[in-house]
Amino acid sequence: MKNLERDVVVIGAGPSGLTAAYELSKAGKTVAVLEARDRVGGRTWTEQMDGATIEIGGQWISPDQTGLYSLIEELGIETFERYKQGKSVYRTEAGEAIVYEGDDFPVAESTVAEMNKLIELMNQLAAEMNPDKPWEHPRAAELDTISFHHFLRNNSDDETACNNIGLFIAGGMLTKPAHAFSALQAVLMASSAGSFDNLVDEDFILDRRMKTSMQGVSIEVAKRLPEETLFLNNPVLKLEWSDEGVVAHGADVTVKAKKVVLAVPPNLYSRISYFPPLPRWQQVTHQHQSMGLVIKVHAVYETPFWREEGLSGTCFGPNHLVQEIYDNTFDGEETGTLVGFISDVEADKVWSLESDEERKEVVLKAMAEFLGEKTLDPKVFYLSDFGSEEWTRGAYATSYDLGGLHRFGPTQNDNVGPIYFSSSDLAGEGFQHVDGAVRMGRRSAARILAELDG
Ligand code: FAD
Repeated sequence: MKNLERDVVVIGAGPSGLTAAYELSKAGKTVAVLEARDRVGGRTWTEQMDGATIEIGGQWISPDQTGLYSLIEELGIETFERYKQGKSVYRTEAGEAIVYEGDDFPVAESTVAEMNKLIELMNQLAAEMNPDKPWEHPRAAELDTISFHHFLRNNSDDETACNNIGLFIAGGMLTKPAHAFSALQAVLMASSAGSFDNLVDEDFILDRRMKTSMQGVSIEVAKRLPEETLFLNNPVLKLEWSDEGVVAHGADVTVKAKKVVLAVPPNLYSRISYFPPLPRWQQVTHQHQSMGLVIKVHAVYETPFWREEGLSGTCFGPNHLVQEIYDNTFDGEETGTLVGFISDVEADKVWSLESDEERKEVVLKAMAEFLGEKTLDPKVFYLSDFGSEEWTRGAYATSYDLGGLHRFGPTQNDNVGPIYFSSSDLAGEGFQHVDGAVRMGRRSAARILAELDG
């Protein structure tokens, strides 16, 4: 067992913990980062599969994500644009695949009008919200005590419009069914991205990717930490704390420090035993933050065959097994990669199938219903399974259950003595994104520096 003494110990080497460690060490503080896994990056993770680069976790960056942009500029990381040329495919509820151009789904004019009405309503609510303090929205309590599903139906009787709008936030972002989270949580998602318009515009929200891959951002930050700072394979399961400081117990490293940055997802706070226990309020709060569930499907082909057919690879199918597909070919690769998303209850169905072969067959068939027969025969097929990852337990991120955001949110970022919580899932701008993780890492570091030096 190695016993270390540092100014600050950081638990978790995802983008938030690493950013905090980087800022603190640049400011001259001694830091140790204890990470449970054998790699950095957390929910960002890249593997090579048969020559193709597969981003198993987070990957896209949008223009509003200036926290992450400023970090990659400092690190010298460049970005590339997602392939966006060509027509898209929309699959109707009846199962018909329609090729279309432009921003509007090819649905009845009256449904387009209803969708635009709902988008405008969400834009207005998002504009009234400070994403750092969603609980201060003038209608916070009202919006937090109605599910997004019912909120949409209270504002429109067009079921297709409600399903299509629901897709962007429920299946597409929070990865929970729209009846499982509040309208306030949905408005926060929009407000954190600047507006609902930004969120529904796939060319904005899924704009660019890192040339290093998104995990590469964490790898580059880790390289810049002083020696003897990062300790992999060191899950912290015990944390002693008092006003004087903390002792964090990893597998083979123990760190005594003045402060701790707890940079793990909120659903994992209870994985650690605290001595003394955390106060009542935090113990209760942490039970109301839960992970969504989504499967990211990767299928790699000899060529991006859809491009030859004038298609961008972008497909939408609310209420279908695979509800979104995009061209996910990595920069410079000649093979073609598609990524599809299977969210919440649809993901449950896929995991309940008996075998990997059955899953592959069912999922590829669902993708072929958008893009045709050629989709059935990839050279690589991979399902991201963050639900089975002990140190994540779901995807993409955590959010509150109904009513939790205005009840528990106001204190979610308060420190408990020397313990500072830092996660993308507690961010305002960049909420549930790498950008939010970076912002929270910087904020935690700044607050600790003010305490230590102030
Ligand atoms: P994490 O990345 O979860 O890092 C937390 C770290 O803590 C992990 O390394 C974990 O191993 C470690 N840990 C946990 N418990 C312990 C413990 N007890 N002791 C020590 N270490 C511990 N974001 C985007 O911006 N764009 C996207 O396109 C995007 N797509 C996504 C797709 C998927 C499939 C997933 C899962 C996420 C996606 N995200 C995306 C979200 C993004 O990846 C997260 O918001 C971001 O990684 C959160 O960073 P973090 O540092 O807060 O937490």
